[in-house]
Amino acid sequence: MVQFPDGRNMLVDAGNNDDGPAVVSYLKSRGVSRIDYLVATHPHEDHIGGMDNVIRAFDIGQVYMPRVTTTTKTFEDVLLAVKEKGLKISSARAGVTVLDQENLKVNFVAPVGTGYEDLNNWSAVVRIQYGSTVFLLTGDTEAQSEEEMLASRANLKADVLKVGHHGSSSSTTPAFLKAVAPKYAVISVGAWNDYGHPHKETLAKLANAGVQVYRTDRDGTVVFTSDGKNITVEKLGSTIRPRAPDTGSMVAPAAPVTPTRSGGGYIGNKNSRKFHLPSCSTLPAEHNRVYFKTREEAISAGYTPCKRCNP
Ligand SMILES: [Zn+2]
Ligand SMILES: [Zn+2]
Repeated sequence: MVQFPDGRNMLVDAGNNDDGPAVVSYLKSRGVSRIDYLVATHPHEDHIGGMDNVIRAFDIGQVYMPRVTTTTKTFEDVLLAVKEKGLKISSARAGVTVLDQENLKVNFVAPVGTGYEDLNNWSAVVRIQYGSTVFLLTGDTEAQSEEEMLASRANLKADVLKVGHHGSSSSTTPAFLKAVAPKYAVISVGAWNDYGHPHKETLAKLANAGVQVYRTDRDGTVVFTSDGKNITVEKLGSTIRPRAPDTGSMVAPAAPVTPTRSGGGYIGNKNSRKFHLPSCSTLPAEHNRVYFKTREEAISAGYTPCKRCNP
């Protein structure tokens, strides 16, 4: 959520399906009634799930999305809300300017190309320059898009980096981090998530580069304020209740769950201490896995069954 000096607002992503109402009430608590610029970085559920709620709750100006579609219900919900409000979608891609004023410039530096296999690399990357301060919001961009941004010779230098893909090791390549050279980084990440985000490799890179890191799982809402020269940071703690148990009503982006109880064993997540079927759509990263032969073994080790795959 970005509030410009003239009172205009920009929202970049809106959390997952369950987050929608919390996002709306947070924005209202910040006195927002109109979102002048709404950006859906890419059509993954954790970024656009709450966006239909936002579109219905506020007066909306321009909507930006990368030119890619997907067949999930959550994406269709967003398109339906856009249509109901009579809004048009503008293309988010490198070179598109949102605002160009003397002291304030907002533009996209990615996606540079098209045809990406992974939706993450379609992520719209927003660059905001106010006075001499710069913010770079990267969605879930991964190494491929980072490389293309570097090759495009866009000015990537920023004071604040919204770290790509929740701190995954598939993003924040050394060359990209060197070009951005941020003073502050913020990682948007759920506590005890099943992906092991943020990955320790990314945290190590940021620490080695002397970047001051904020994390929403620990700091809650993080607010950066720029006067055009200096940036101050506030941690507001969490205004959002912990994630409700998965009801199974969310649309999983991955393949349907087909239990393979025979011979497959079970995969535990060292962080969340949940265990899954090997076919679950929310398996942890390799380095956070622990393998069990039987269900009993997982339970006696103190692991609880995942609510999505019901192992
Ligand atoms: Zn994401
Ligand atoms: Zn994504």
